[in-house]
Amino acid sequence: MLHVEAKVEELLSAKSGGWNVGLIKQVLNEEELLPKKKRGREASRSADEAWRKLWNLNIPGVTKIFVWKAITNCLPTKKNLLKRKVVKEALCPVCKREDESVCHTLWSCNRAGDVWACERSPVHKWPSSERDVFEFWSEWSSKLAQDQVEIMAMVLRRVWLRRNGWVFENRFKGPNEVFSQAVICLTEFQQAQSKQGSGQLNSAQCNRALHWKPLVGDVVKVNWDAALRINDSSCGIGVVIRDSCGELLVSLCCFRSNVLSPIVRPEHLA
Ligand SMILES: [Zn+2]
Repeated sequence: MLHVEAKVEELLSAKSGGWNVGLIKQVLNEEELLPKKKRGREASRSADEAWRKLWNLNIPGVTKIFVWKAITNCLPTKKNLLKRKVVKEALCPVCKREDESVCHTLWSCNRAGDVWACERSPVHKWPSSERDVFEFWSEWSSKLAQDQVEIMAMVLRRVWLRRNGWVFENRFKGPNEVFSQAVICLTEFQQAQSKQGSGQLNSAQCNRALHWKPLVGDVVKVNWDAALRINDSSCGIGVVIRDSCGELLVSLCCFRSNVLSPIVRPEHLA
């Protein structure tokens, strides 16, 4: 049985250096083992379209990646962990009534439904039945305006974070708080984006004034910054990694709650 943090290398055979086929067949189902091209071009086209729409949303990158993981069924829900033999039962840890699929935990669980039923929710009267996540995301994308889909994406991630808060820290936020935090985060992100856009020229001029020198050798440069919001003890962290020519290789951002000190501890950056 694999543990929750298992890495791909654990699927390799120490003896031959190749795949450990027996173990792979135990932890992955048939669909996951099929090469993408065999799943059908239509499905692939729809997935490309969903990704294109998602990528164009004005939301944080971490939320885009989260939604993509959700619609490709890659979140570590109890049902997915059971498939990989990481846990022994799939019951939803929140309602304890049904198996915890991705759709269940984000949408059809009655506790998730409380969030979606908030008056400001663009889908507050939509049926909460269990269905394929890709299907309901596609329906949102086609029926809702872009700004509404952006709110939905932010709320989706907040519903998952609330679930994790319950599982790992035994705390559970109320539905209105979840919805409000999602809206506040989105507003702050979009305001920061528009400020950044209007300041691009100054920033470029500033960079030239600094006479940035290329790094010598096969090395990368990592810059990071963090901001603490005192009123709700939360912290935002951003990291960029550039190569020796100054080209951006990686950019990451994340949000941490329960940060009480302006001194950012190493584990917040992990
Ligand atoms: Zn549930």
